[in-house]
Amino acid sequence: MLTILEFHNISKHGVGWTNVHPERFAEVLDLLLAETEVVSPVRYGMRFLDGHPDGHPRVMISFDDGYEEIFTTAYPIMKKRGVAGMVSVVAGYTGKTNLWDIGGGSLRHLYWHEIEALLDAGWSICSHTMTHPDLKRCTDDRLIWELTESKVLLERRLGIEMPAIAYPFGRFNARVIAATHRAGYKTGFTVGAERWHGVRGPLTIRRIPVYQIDPNALIRVKVAPDGLLKKLDAFKNRSFNKASLLTSFINRNRYKGIPGSTIL
Ligand SMILES: [Zn+2]
Repeated sequence: MLTILEFHNISKHGVGWTNVHPERFAEVLDLLLAETEVVSPVRYGMRFLDGHPDGHPRVMISFDDGYEEIFTTAYPIMKKRGVAGMVSVVAGYTGKTNLWDIGGGSLRHLYWHEIEALLDAGWSICSHTMTHPDLKRCTDDRLIWELTESKVLLERRLGIEMPAIAYPFGRFNARVIAATHRAGYKTGFTVGAERWHGVRGPLTIRRIPVYQIDPNALIRVKVAPDGLLKKLDAFKNRSFNKASLLTSFINRNRYKGIPGSTIL
């Protein structure tokens, strides 16, 4: 069984529920390494949905939003333990500060050379759109632009194929999935907090968020098979995710990029 955990920023100075202190991050990693197999997302050929029928718990570490401290703080902690992760990059924000996460202050995003260093170290990168909107609320033109422009930009700047995307706020619906497929993505990551009654496939792969307040007992629940406690954790995560989404309404008009234009 593979569980993909989703972190955001790892920082001593960060605030907000999505920030995890580096010491706590190291503790969580050590717990996972002791009790599960922590796998590296070396390539997307990995079959995220095959369920690993042996029941052996496997965990993959992912980070949303591509903050610079993933390189300066989280990467050394993971490198020391021989683990690589996956980062979703907001392609229009590389080297810039974040405008949407009002709870966490202004945070710098990874520079291109830092993303390249992570790739060289065996990490994986996926798109997190151009500007981190709620894709469910985007017009068709904006939706296509967010999906396609980020894919092309990441591929050109990094010289790699970009077959995967993480939906901002984990938000998607049938229209978003269809557009993602048409844009050429093969894999789509959401978060467990997003309700979806349709069939699960490669474009709706769940990740489970980890927060600073989650105790060890809850980390164990997150990586265990489905059960009541996991449902309770999902309920809590949904509430946190709804609060994050508020920031997208507040900031939705602040990005100056014009859909249809190019920033390449
Ligand atoms: Zn995000």
